[in-house]
Amino acid sequence: MSDFELGLIGHPVEHSMSPAMHNAVFEGLGLDFRYGLFDLLENELEGFIEKAKDEMIGVNVTIPHKVNVIPFVDKLSREAELIGAVNTLKFEDGRVLGFNTDGLGCVKALDEAGFPVKGKNVLILGAGGAARAISFQAVLEGANVSLSNREEEKQMVLNLASELNEKTKSEVMVVDMVDETLARELSNTDVLVHATPVGMHPHEDGILISSELIPSEVAVMDIVYNPLETRLLREAKERGCPTISGVGMLVHQGVECEKIWLGIDPPVDVMKKIVIQALNQG
Ligand code: NAP
Repeated sequence: MSDFELGLIGHPVEHSMSPAMHNAVFEGLGLDFRYGLFDLLENELEGFIEKAKDEMIGVNVTIPHKVNVIPFVDKLSREAELIGAVNTLKFEDGRVLGFNTDGLGCVKALDEAGFPVKGKNVLILGAGGAARAISFQAVLEGANVSLSNREEEKQMVLNLASELNEKTKSEVMVVDMVDETLARELSNTDVLVHATPVGMHPHEDGILISSELIPSEVAVMDIVYNPLETRLLREAKERGCPTISGVGMLVHQGVECEKIWLGIDPPVDVMKKIVIQALNQG
């Protein structure tokens, strides 16, 4: 552990892009930090964090520990508390601080692409961990959010909408995932965010909703980043929609982590280049 100042804890972790992305920044800026991978089971978390808080600056947290680490956190950021999950820990003066930069990463990527969500109608597809983080952050940024999830698990999306409305005093609506209702919603949508694994490698033929329902004025983001251009993005582009890949979210959540850990504003382009290179190499 003492070989690394920063790292990722989760299970499994070996396919993560985070070491390449963060280490490239440290190398480029001449910073003497190293980012490592720590494959941990749930019963190993407490011991790891106890030791890490004296030896490391911080860590990222991934599946399946984003909720499991919360009992070991002394203070949660507003976002992490609302979302109910942590993707970043910072160790400071013997204390453990918990943050969630996933939603912010998505919002910053949309900003960068020219689609700030403030005051916009944003439709999010999915009701899992990523959709949860994105929907809370989008509401915090002043977006009008609607959610839609596959019909067979409707209770999850209904629960998420109630929680958002209760905790943030917003008016998040749930839209049935059927063509007619989606078409109506999409005719009044500025930004569509797809936040399910559908279309991810090796199931690249997958698409959650028919692209024919999406008007050309809607900006379409797919948070799936492997492949770089999902079927949803390809078809949306063919229809004339502006499209945003999931790489932006991945990179910007990492940018926010470096701000938290080190107080630096890392070079986004370097991080993006490294991720795209790694994805192209398969
Ligand atoms: P998750 O917690 O497992 O949630 C998955 C969501 O997708 C659930 O709403 C689930 O619906 C839905 N879903 C799963 N399989 C489906 C299918 N075959 N048809 C329709 N809906 C389906 O996963 P997550 O953590 O939210 O991640 C979702 C995706 O986002 C993953 O591909 C992940 O790699 C990607 N991601 C990207 C970034 C980034 O930085 N770009 C960050 C985080 C995640 P049910 O509730 O009905 O099961």
